[in-house]
Amino acid sequence: MANEYNVIVIGGGPAGYVAAIRCAQLGMNTALVDDFIGKQGKPVLGGTCANVGCIPSKALLESTEAYENIVKSSKVHGISVNEVTVDVAAMVTRKDKIVASMSSGVEQLLKANKVTWLKGRGRLLPEKQVEVTDHKGKTKTYQSENIIFATGSSPVEIPSAPLTDDVIVNSSGALDWDSAPKRLGIIGAGVIGLELGTVWRRLGSEVTLLEAQDIFLPMVDQEIGKEALRQFSSQGLDIRLSARVTSSIVEKGVVNLTYSDPEGEHTLSVDRLIVCVGRRPCSENIAAPETDLLIDEGGFIHVDDNCETNLPGVYAIGDVVRGPMLAHKGSEEGIVVAERIAGNHAHVNYDAIPSVIYTHPEISWVGKTEEELKASGEDYNAGVFPFAASGRARAMNDANGMVKVLINKQTDRILGVHIIGPQSSEIIGQAVMALEFEGTSEDIASTVFAHPTLSEAFHEAALGADGRAIHIVNKKRK
Ligand code: NAD
Repeated sequence: MANEYNVIVIGGGPAGYVAAIRCAQLGMNTALVDDFIGKQGKPVLGGTCANVGCIPSKALLESTEAYENIVKSSKVHGISVNEVTVDVAAMVTRKDKIVASMSSGVEQLLKANKVTWLKGRGRLLPEKQVEVTDHKGKTKTYQSENIIFATGSSPVEIPSAPLTDDVIVNSSGALDWDSAPKRLGIIGAGVIGLELGTVWRRLGSEVTLLEAQDIFLPMVDQEIGKEALRQFSSQGLDIRLSARVTSSIVEKGVVNLTYSDPEGEHTLSVDRLIVCVGRRPCSENIAAPETDLLIDEGGFIHVDDNCETNLPGVYAIGDVVRGPMLAHKGSEEGIVVAERIAGNHAHVNYDAIPSVIYTHPEISWVGKTEEELKASGEDYNAGVFPFAASGRARAMNDANGMVKVLINKQTDRILGVHIIGPQSSEIIGQAVMALEFEGTSEDIASTVFAHPTLSEAFHEAALGADGRAIHIVNKKRK
């Protein structure tokens, strides 16, 4: 019968489209519902990640890093460059082209896998029906054996800094400026604040980040966090902790902010302001009340360990459910749900999900932090290897930062790996595999790493956890 599917996925970001492709590969008749409108005013696939998140921010980070390297590092390498100019509008156009190719790539993949794209907004009705409303308001109802919600998240807004058309923006708005504001304020020194702050600082903005918490990057191992604060501050980011914004007034194109910290009330005037204080799940109006789909007070769809909701055959994955709001976590959940629907065994190892902040240096980690191990009372050893002792990092003129490996003192099992340093987003993959395979520091110690590579720092940190690093003097840490 027409309008009947084995699986309907609602949401076409990295959780939803990956789930849809895997379902189709497993032989299910699959449809994907999405209503995201791209910059060109047309429906696009790939969600926040491809269109206004991971991919465009990385495109701008790469362009601005290339620019900064020419300006700041050419001389060190013996290269003299006379005049360097930067065309921000051209950078943004390049970013837009990458975004367009990524989202059309997703569309091609869906086509090749025979997944039907239903353009519109999906809403769950009783008896596993899905109502799809297109942009003209026309609705159509579909029946499906299984439904997967992958509706993602959207930026949190705060009453003390309501968004305007151009001056006070969220993370999406800050990807399209054609010139760098002279003074840029950012509320929230989290992942997005640091990545966007880095982009615009490199292009010439004076960047001030106002962060409500008194600890910088509290989710990061604090040895790494303190090093990050030191490095970002020396790059020119003005990071103010314990700073809570109480009001913002836009006058003649200038944002006048008031914020309080333990010393009292302060004011700050900036030409542009980015609000990036976290994201919230998109779960409003996704199900008719009579379906009784369970959604918690935070807006997250309630799911069990296998991403099944309280309604049998209805699943939810990605940012709209518990766990870190990371594209790769959502994709993995998508694969697992597809496999389980097909009757196969699959699970997500939530203990081995990497996190990365794509600043320079990059901050990457997996597993437990030293603070978490102290709090849980687990007996551990730590090995730390600085990139200053890495021949490859020195050759790259990029030797700031370190790799830290935490192991269980009795079993030698690797519990966490934390890196601040060049290309750490690539090195962390090796650490994730070590955790996934339940590896020990001995496993890493007895693995041969190519020389000279940045990954050797991971090898040396694992050796150091046992007091036998070769290229530094081993010291007792505790
Ligand atoms: P975040 O949680 O990383 O950081 C938000 C920061 O804002 C926090 O430090 C918080 O203390 C602060 N804050 C909250 N309210 C505030 C206020 N009123 N005044 C001042 N500070 C305030 O959130 P984000 O940076 O918005 O990112 C959102 C999500 O997207 C995160 O879950 C993040 O992991 C994900 N993301 C990941 C990547 C990546 O993987 N590289 C990149 C971008 C976003």
